[in-house]
Amino acid sequence: MGPRGGLYLAAGSGHKRGMSDLPTPRGRLTAGKPLSDLTWLRVGGPAQWLFQPADVEDLAAFLRALDPAIPVFPMGVGSNLIVRDGGMRGVVVRLGRGFNHIRVAGRRVTAGAAALDAHVARKAAAAGIDLTFLRTIPGAIGGAVRMNAGCYGTYTADVFVQATAVTRAGEVVTLTADDLDFRYRQSDLPPDWVIVEATLEGAEGDPQALAGKMAAQLDKRDATQPTKERTAGSTFRNPAGYSSTGEADDVHDLKAWKVIDAAGMRGARLGGAQMSPQHSNFLVNTGGATAAELEGLGEEVRKRVFQNSGIELHWEIMRVGEPAP
Ligand SMILES: Cc1cc2nc3c(=O)[nH]c(=O)nc-3n(C[C@H](O)[C@H](O)[C@H](O)COP(=O)(O)OP(=O)(O)OC[C@H]3O[C@@H](n4cnc5c(N)ncnc54)[C@H](O)[C@@H]3O)c2cc1C
Repeated sequence: MGPRGGLYLAAGSGHKRGMSDLPTPRGRLTAGKPLSDLTWLRVGGPAQWLFQPADVEDLAAFLRALDPAIPVFPMGVGSNLIVRDGGMRGVVVRLGRGFNHIRVAGRRVTAGAAALDAHVARKAAAAGIDLTFLRTIPGAIGGAVRMNAGCYGTYTADVFVQATAVTRAGEVVTLTADDLDFRYRQSDLPPDWVIVEATLEGAEGDPQALAGKMAAQLDKRDATQPTKERTAGSTFRNPAGYSSTGEADDVHDLKAWKVIDAAGMRGARLGGAQMSPQHSNFLVNTGGATAAELEGLGEEVRKRVFQNSGIELHWEIMRVGEPAP
């Protein structure tokens, strides 16, 4: 029996490991934490272990001591994830207090990876720095770097200076844009490295004008997207969407929502999952959906779009973890 509650057998993992097999951190380690509590879509089975490190040194020491065979998955605030119903094997790292500082120096903003994009945008704007594009993205800074998050013509890549990460081996490293090779909604960050901090640099702007710009963006979102529902943002990439330079999404004629509409899938349902009637590229948990229903509906949309127009849609939402046993 481990010191914190004995053996835990993850659904479908096929092997047993007790908490005593894991290093003892200063932060919080929880066995069997339901990830549905931590994702925007409110679905997902348990993390075999959820680790909330106290600080960077705690995270690095834990990863150094952790059996290299145990998988590690860094999670932000789960705004771009479908975690499958069987949950996740290994250690899910979720940063919280200790990783949400925001510091401004000149036109540069250095933020802990758990700082919410919206908070960073607001704090930057108040200091006369334009990181306004982050205001309406519901993720945290670690996820923004990993996903090269962007909207309204600006991407994280455009403002990125550097990031600090902890490797799976527990080494603390500094990453440049070259290391990350940002692309449309992706980067080369190894999937088990944890970003702990990033420095971004925005153009100078008048704080009041920047506040106005953010308010307008919020209004635009509310008018066009189901912002009050359980979603994970755009489900599929726009078919022609490719940008690492801040090129506007709007220049791409082929919008995912248009080909979904053309295939007759706006409003389509599978159990509690639905393609939003308001914006057909948004997958919604209308209440009580399983991850299997959400993913299944997405796959059905891909199939119908391909049959209808020959276009292969690619998921923008990441699907992780194990199906229900
Ligand atoms: C209503 C809505 C609107 C959205 N609009 C946009 C938009 O306009 N533009 C856009 O780009 N996205 C948008 N998204 C998607 C999402 O918010 C972004 O992809 C965001 O950057 C994800 O951040 P997160 O913290 O939630 O990461 P998560 O969803 O938790 O994780 C996403 C990925 O990032 C990795 N990750 C997270 N944190 C870290 C870390 N600290 N270190 C290493 N890897 C990490 C995870 O391993 C995973 O691979 C939207 C989502 C919603 C729900």
